[in-house]
Amino acid sequence: MTIDQYNFNGKKAIVRVDFNVPLDENGNITDDTRIRGALPTLKKILADGGSLIIMSHMGKPKGKVNPKMSLGQIKETVGKYLGTEVKFADDCAKASELAASLKPGEVLLLENLRFHPEEEGKPVGIDKADPAYEAAKKEMKENQKEFAKALASYADVYVNDAFGTAHRRHASTAVIADYFDADNKMLGYLMEKEVKAVDNILSDIKRPFTAIMGGSKVSTKIGIIENLMDKVDNLILCGGMTYTFAKALGGNVGKSICEEDKLDLALDIIKKAKEKGVNLVLGTDCVAADDFSNDANTMVVSCNEIPAEWEGLDAGPETRKMFADAIKGAKTILWNGPAGVFEFDNFTAGSRAIADAIVEATENGAFSLVGGGDSVACVNKFGLADKVSYVSTGGGALLEAIEGKVLPGIAAIRG
Ligand code: AMP
Repeated sequence: MTIDQYNFNGKKAIVRVDFNVPLDENGNITDDTRIRGALPTLKKILADGGSLIIMSHMGKPKGKVNPKMSLGQIKETVGKYLGTEVKFADDCAKASELAASLKPGEVLLLENLRFHPEEEGKPVGIDKADPAYEAAKKEMKENQKEFAKALASYADVYVNDAFGTAHRRHASTAVIADYFDADNKMLGYLMEKEVKAVDNILSDIKRPFTAIMGGSKVSTKIGIIENLMDKVDNLILCGGMTYTFAKALGGNVGKSICEEDKLDLALDIIKKAKEKGVNLVLGTDCVAADDFSNDANTMVVSCNEIPAEWEGLDAGPETRKMFADAIKGAKTILWNGPAGVFEFDNFTAGSRAIADAIVEATENGAFSLVGGGDSVACVNKFGLADKVSYVSTGGGALLEAIEGKVLPGIAAIRG
């Protein structure tokens, strides 16, 4: 079933969204992108004449009530965007009466799902090494089913529009789908768009395909790097992982971030790229700093010759040009992870060069997908988000999807 085919008239729909929005210390939303992302789905349900039960997590309350992570704080904003009053259930597991009383066009927001440990389904307060852990886990899995069943009982139809959590088998993202038949569960519009964007990268590849992997460490990106090696023509590895590669190749990297235990892995990646005919692009020069701060003194040096007290915090000019050249000619582009410590304004040039080249390639007809929290923050910082083909809301979920893994949240609906 697709959301466009479904008529929500007279139905109660329970929708899993990702309203895990950042809040300031006074509980004000600092970035409402995620709320806006779910609006097409929510509005379609209301426009059809359905009633809406919205559920989400916020933060990591670890199975306990924590007022700082209450979704009550965003109720007004959700109401403002939907143009209607939003009712609030302050315990998501005890909302049957409120749900039953909803009339068509009415909206109920459930309190943070993760205030209940059953949402994530992991036993709390017991160590994995404890002999009783396995039994506790089994019991929790049963409780998780009950919790999911309670949520399902509020509604006639289930919609999952939370791509950011689609790689988790949680009560609200996957288990709940077992309580709806195939005609009454579906992906929301945002999920459909995300799945299509991943499909473009995985199956409908127009060449050349350039992937840019950045961020702090090679260890957290190894799965996707290995998977991409079979698909891409150009693979740019940048950001903090530059220095693990430079060190592995015998360079001096000073105080730069470097995973000493991943030097062999770096050499293995270089070898595999050669075997597979992938053009691996690694930084040659960098902007080094004498302190990890925006105001540090800087100099451009070779990534192999960084003085002992200095650290590479951004790509150098020669490297930026190499990156841009590998991006500009591409027809398919994937970017995950910044090329430097872009949070410091003085170390954004590498990421900026990548973003500008992606925009240029997109203008020339390339399909470009930018995903993962930090690269999204980058394109937002540069004001370029609407100049790339697609900005994914998923971090871990996007990477797992591109690694070729089946996401539980999607499998639960599509089978
Ligand atoms: P990740 O979470 O692995 O995608 O990494 C993102 C983080 O990597 C950002 O917060 C960047 O500041 C950081 N990063 C990028 N380049 C460097 C670098 N050369 N040294 C230290 N951190 C970096």
